[in-house]
Amino acid sequence: VRVPTPANEPVRDYAPGSPEAVRLRAEIDRIGGQVRELPHVINGERHFTGRQEAVVSPHEHARVLGHITLAEEKQVRAAVDASLAARHDWSMTPWWERAAIFLRAADLVTGKYRDELNATTMLGQSKTYHQAEVDAACELADFFRYNAHSAAAIYDQQPTSDPGQWNIMDHRGLEGFVLAITPFNFTAIAGNLPSTPALMGNTVVWKPSEKSALSSDVVMRVFEEAGLPPGVINLVHGDGQSVADQALASEHLAGVSFTGSTAVFRSLWKTTARHLDSYRAYPRLVGETGGKNAIVAHPSADPEALLVALVRSAFEYQGQKCSAASRAYIPRSLWSRIEDRFADTVAGLRVGDVAEHETFVGAVIDAASCTRLEQAITEAKSLDSHRLLVGGTVRRETGWFVDPTVFVTDDPTAFTMTREFFGPLLTVHVYEDGDWTNILSLADNTSAYALTCSIFATERAAVSEALSVLRDAAGMTYVNDKPTGALMGRQSFGGGRASGTNDKTGSPLALQRWVSGRYIKENM
Ligand code: GLU
Repeated sequence: VRVPTPANEPVRDYAPGSPEAVRLRAEIDRIGGQVRELPHVINGERHFTGRQEAVVSPHEHARVLGHITLAEEKQVRAAVDASLAARHDWSMTPWWERAAIFLRAADLVTGKYRDELNATTMLGQSKTYHQAEVDAACELADFFRYNAHSAAAIYDQQPTSDPGQWNIMDHRGLEGFVLAITPFNFTAIAGNLPSTPALMGNTVVWKPSEKSALSSDVVMRVFEEAGLPPGVINLVHGDGQSVADQALASEHLAGVSFTGSTAVFRSLWKTTARHLDSYRAYPRLVGETGGKNAIVAHPSADPEALLVALVRSAFEYQGQKCSAASRAYIPRSLWSRIEDRFADTVAGLRVGDVAEHETFVGAVIDAASCTRLEQAITEAKSLDSHRLLVGGTVRRETGWFVDPTVFVTDDPTAFTMTREFFGPLLTVHVYEDGDWTNILSLADNTSAYALTCSIFATERAAVSEALSVLRDAAGMTYVNDKPTGALMGRQSFGGGRASGTNDKTGSPLALQRWVSGRYIKENM
């Protein structure tokens, strides 16, 4: 079976006044004027019980967009039971039929549900038109299409047979259920983490971030409308810790599909270790976690390309991509040429309501995020080794706004150069031009993470040296480009060290984690 080779979904530009922008704006107004009940979906049934929590818009936190209820033991148990009950039929469904459901889902994403996915992502997660479009429309559909295409490569792997003997590789789903825990920052990831194991024949309990409940609700409806049978993906809202504690205690846990913080992934891993003796099989743990992504520029770097990369990768989506640049190493000769222009550009970035086209930076996701960033900014301001170049202001009255902020430091080991803040905060270390080799080692040694990095240089020898020294420093290395915006089918995402298990979303490598092979040898 061959799945058509996908093409990346073309990105719409939503030029102000264009019919597509007018339509999306109307959808934003429609959804912004509602208060939605966002239920658990267990075995195809909707449940809305127990303690309620409001879902608000980060850039207008007085606006209540909906309510979720926090799952209690009963709902989590029901979701696990529903997954286990659905498993046999689903895992015996031919893989191309499972793939067909997700290919249909991709067309619903790019067609009927495109505006609703974009509008809920803008309102609930504070993404701009462009950031919502590349995520909730394009990457989400790309994930479904590329995963279906990559699945063929897995199922095609078959052993040699001889006359009188037939060998078959049976790529089974894992025995048990998979727990998918998804982050607020990408609607595409929220859709990808439960659907990838499901595509490969697994059934899933999906706990989305409560901060993306609005768009996750739409993703769930897309799955259902595409024909996903009840019980294959069961959505429960709730407190992550208590849902995870309960689900991980089940002897039937087969795996965890996770994107989020390093701390949470580690705690999930420790919890599974505690339950190891009671599991029927070793659970597969797949995680994509934090980053402290560097841009390292050589004196030969193109200043214009560097400038664009700094601005876009540090401040698009408020720096809340795992891949965002949050530290930069720039040689003095280059810095003196770009410093003023960079400061002016960052100061000129429009911060505000994402429904306005001029906005480049929306709000950070919640009050806790605001506080974490404010504390880091205050601490950096108090250090002699740090100079505030631009930004540094936090405003909470209408939304959780943190102005794009840049510090310059002469201490490359300072906390601003090593700790992840997940917000619009970039620190630049200006180094002496002759120090390139040392700076590469330093960039490598000072990071516990290894997600993305960018190397800017036009001299080939400098590129080669950087690729060699930074070989283990990132799972995604970009040369003369920003470290964000991996495109499905072109750069499969993932990183090592504290950044995760590096399983490369959308590629056969990721799908391989969700199958467990059985060889059948039959003598004829
Ligand atoms: N795939 C995204 C990118 O390349 C980042 C994903 C994440 O934040 O987890 O920018």
